[in-house]
Amino acid sequence: MYAPMDVEGQEYFIKPMNCPFHIQIYRSRTRSYRDLPIRLAEWGTVYRYERSGVLHGLTRVRGFTQDDAHIFCRPDQVEDEIGRVLDFTLHILRSFGLTDFRAYLATRPEKAVGEPARWEQATEALRRAIEAHGLAYEVDEGGGAFYGPKIDLKIADALGREWQCTTIQFDFNLPERWDLAYVGEDGKEHRPYMVHRALLGSMERFFGVLIEHYGGAFPVWLAPVQAVLIPIADRHLDYCYQVAERLREAGLRVEVNASKERMGAKIRDAQLQKIPYMLVVGDREVKGGNVAVRLRTEENLGAISVDAFIAMAQEAIAEKRSL
Ligand SMILES: [Zn+2]
Repeated sequence: MYAPMDVEGQEYFIKPMNCPFHIQIYRSRTRSYRDLPIRLAEWGTVYRYERSGVLHGLTRVRGFTQDDAHIFCRPDQVEDEIGRVLDFTLHILRSFGLTDFRAYLATRPEKAVGEPARWEQATEALRRAIEAHGLAYEVDEGGGAFYGPKIDLKIADALGREWQCTTIQFDFNLPERWDLAYVGEDGKEHRPYMVHRALLGSMERFFGVLIEHYGGAFPVWLAPVQAVLIPIADRHLDYCYQVAERLREAGLRVEVNASKERMGAKIRDAQLQKIPYMLVVGDREVKGGNVAVRLRTEENLGAISVDAFIAMAQEAIAEKRSL
């Protein structure tokens, strides 16, 4: 499993997780109680062998990128750190329009490493953070890993399916195994707490969840193409390109549909792609310096000036609205 690959005479290994590398950074020098907390974050690409039968779209893949971080802290900092991680998590998930989550608190199993008092403190810190944020949660009594308690956040998508994304996990094993220490106020060595945390989990899976959640109809700020210009006839194409340029200068992601299809087919095509705004251009729009706005909900807003459209789209983006 850990056989190296030979790349131009150098040994390369496939990286299954980020933790050991952050631990090496922590260990690279003597740490004082004043240095803590130390938070190391990374978009780390890792590889896991998944049998081909269980690979599934973006949600189960063999190579993926974790928004991974490790927090090393003192006992008196644990509660604050967990609270911050949960603040950050909820801010990010809610920004993406995900509001329906359930927290699972997994506690000490029969066989576990680490002092019971530390387990207790860590578990209570997790519980208090969940309660302080008003999250619904279930306790998985004894369901923690042997090395520490954790919170998992599962997200419900638009169809009510639950997806595991966020994990906040204590680890009493690795600090022991790697003999991690900091020098306390008393001049003696102490063992830091270590927390693994991933907010989105894997980028690939999170995008899979988002696509499912929105059924492809992303809010404007997330839509890969935010507006498409649709000329009624070829003679309106030049104007479409001019408007597209103005929209791009305003920071919008825009395409011009210059295909030979009929207008109705172009609108259908844009609707299938769930592009938020369709901007139809005919003689009247060219003459008036306008665009006729159709929404992907099939609502027709009629002709408005290009500036008015820019203001409308920018407002929807700033407010992270659907349209
Ligand atoms: Zn880790």
